[in-house]
Amino acid sequence: MTHRTLLRGAAVATLALALAACGATSPTSPAATPDASTEDAGTVGFQQIRNATIKLDYAGTTFLIDPMLAAKDAYPGFEGTYNSEVRYPLVELPMPMSEVMDADAIIVTHTHADHWDDEARRSLPRNLPLFVQNEADAESIRQDGFTDVRVLTRDTVFNGTQLSITGGQHGDDQAMAVAGEALGQVMGVVFQRPGHETVYLAGDTIWNAQVEDSIQQYQPDVIVLNTGYARIQGLDGSIIMGKDDLYRAYQAAPQAKVIGSHMEAVNHAMQTRQDLHDHIKATGMDPERVLVPADGESYTF
Ligand SMILES: [Zn+2]
Repeated sequence: MTHRTLLRGAAVATLALALAACGATSPTSPAATPDASTEDAGTVGFQQIRNATIKLDYAGTTFLIDPMLAAKDAYPGFEGTYNSEVRYPLVELPMPMSEVMDADAIIVTHTHADHWDDEARRSLPRNLPLFVQNEADAESIRQDGFTDVRVLTRDTVFNGTQLSITGGQHGDDQAMAVAGEALGQVMGVVFQRPGHETVYLAGDTIWNAQVEDSIQQYQPDVIVLNTGYARIQGLDGSIIMGKDDLYRAYQAAPQAKVIGSHMEAVNHAMQTRQDLHDHIKATGMDPERVLVPADGESYTF
């Protein structure tokens, strides 16, 4: 069992990732690195960038996940969705793009433009290892000139870390019946390595049996959910998760930290961080175990 020291605040963001990357220990997690000679320090760094774009520093390897890199207001709102007249991203990146792009590998859970945008396609180094859910997404990304695109499996290993693809559905059955082609296929990812917290990134999915099964199977210590409650015009409910699903995960994984991401950055995401904070209070969830990071904020586990 590794220590679960948690650093909060944007001020430690860069620091936490840098520390994790070089195997040093942070002052508030004295037992995290007993042996400075090993790069494998047991540290997992999470950083919220913006929308679903996050960085995970796992055992010294930095994964950039679902990069949407454009400047504020670069794109028209998603057609047919709520607030489609509003341009997105709603906010700027919280740090210089060069800093965001500083990674060892990229993971694209699906190719919707708020997870893999024109700016990312244009700007990211073509030779970085890039993991996708299937051959169709791989082919599309290879067409942009990326040369090391790999399809994730249930037992992919990268730099000694096990990456496992998990299932999901980008909307309920009604949404899939009406807009299934546009919503497409999605994946989540589980990160595992002995001596490290297991991290489950669910991706753009609603709460369903696939999510429950992934939690049961992998028993994650950290669960990252996309909880912006994105909505399509004319459909009930959301095509991703929302505050109620934060509570579901909290109950389904009583030992895990649960992180809410994918909020306040695209036009059709209808629940805010404040909505989540209010819900955390109203349901009596432990705020130490349910985290709603601001853009740029980071934690180490
Ligand atoms: Zn999304």
